[in-house]
Amino acid sequence: MKTKIKILDFFRKKYTSNGLEKIQQVLDYVDEHDLYPDLKIIESAIEPEVTIGGKKYLMFSSNNYLGLATHPKVKEAAIKAVEKYGAGSTGSRLLSGNIDIYLELEKKLADFKKGEAAIVFPTGFAANLGTISAVMNPLKVTFSSFFERQGIILSDELNHASMIDGCRLSSQKKVVYKHKDVNHLESLLKKYRNRRKLIATDSIFSMDGNIAPLDKISELAKKYNAMIMIDEAHATGVLGENGRGAIEYFNLKIPGDIPIVMGTLSKAIGSCGGYVVGSKDLIKYLRVTARSYMFSTAIPPVVAAAALAAIDVIQTEHNLLKKLWDNARYLKQEFEKMGFDTLGTESQIVPILIGKDEDAIKTSRIFFEKNIFAPCVRWPAVARGTARIRFTITAAHTREQIDRLLSASKLIKEKLSKDISC
Ligand code: PMP
Repeated sequence: MKTKIKILDFFRKKYTSNGLEKIQQVLDYVDEHDLYPDLKIIESAIEPEVTIGGKKYLMFSSNNYLGLATHPKVKEAAIKAVEKYGAGSTGSRLLSGNIDIYLELEKKLADFKKGEAAIVFPTGFAANLGTISAVMNPLKVTFSSFFERQGIILSDELNHASMIDGCRLSSQKKVVYKHKDVNHLESLLKKYRNRRKLIATDSIFSMDGNIAPLDKISELAKKYNAMIMIDEAHATGVLGENGRGAIEYFNLKIPGDIPIVMGTLSKAIGSCGGYVVGSKDLIKYLRVTARSYMFSTAIPPVVAAAALAAIDVIQTEHNLLKKLWDNARYLKQEFEKMGFDTLGTESQIVPILIGKDEDAIKTSRIFFEKNIFAPCVRWPAVARGTARIRFTITAAHTREQIDRLLSASKLIKEKLSKDISC
């Protein structure tokens, strides 16, 4: 008996490490496999041309899709707001941070998306965490709710990390359906016919740039009595005739067709913060149940002012949207002519598939040597073996800047084609 305990003790000591040792193990692994990202320090505003180490680089990686982060009207609104409100809100919305400009922004977002009401979160990530967990794990306020079965979240396999973490936080059952595969989704909806269900999907997928078939998904949701939540982070300001997002592109109504529409202020809107648009009741509910809203400081008022001005620009300067799409189509078409696999993109996110992580890292470094900023995306952000360079294009890029990227890509393709099949 004593010997058994001694042996067990030996193995326990050998294989139990404390937290710091674990951290070191991971860091060693990251270093050994050259996984730590090449983090560049940008010394200028995020525009098509940025300064790094005193040199100019073409930026093909920002989400500033309409160039609004530095639009004169946006900057002017931000400066005025700083003068009026100062730097920060210094409180959560439920306590001291409920400043009038947030209500103005929420009204504007609800009108822009044609929903009944909106709620603004500190970030898009927080919006997904707070909303999915609040909607799928409601407070148990009736006796029978203690006996209810777990809810089911049907989640597209390429959903953004914040949706995935929102599902985890909800402590309900998450079932992943094949990317954009409505047949697979329907089979799961049938399987879980008698359960409370939420279908969660990005509308434009952040790593592949393709679009979820929301028209079909919305029909299925109605047929099987499921809720839908969409993440319009990359679609707001981009899709639809007026940039209202995938809901406009597919002509869907909030809340009738899509009850929960999430988005972020940090991409085409050029600022920071997340939001959800839906019915008045949904928004009222989230204000008292979404923990990432209730227990976090509200965005700085200056950020809300910038977002308000940016939405005005989207609604008035339609040439920006047209320019964005002309640029996106041109880039995709020219990459495909060169023989790159652009992974079926349908948007301003234009990836080129490289394959192995080390090849993608190498390719991204060569682009950087040619003064092009386009980091690679690798596992765990994308599936293993599908490492890529993820280019994003904006309305602010000129044709000449895109052509500079294309000439560099052509040379890189020729140079690497011997050992990398991309
Ligand atoms: N959803 C998607 C699809 C995203 O790409 C991102 C940001 N990369 C987020 C949510 C999170 O938004 P934020 O950056 O505002 O936290």
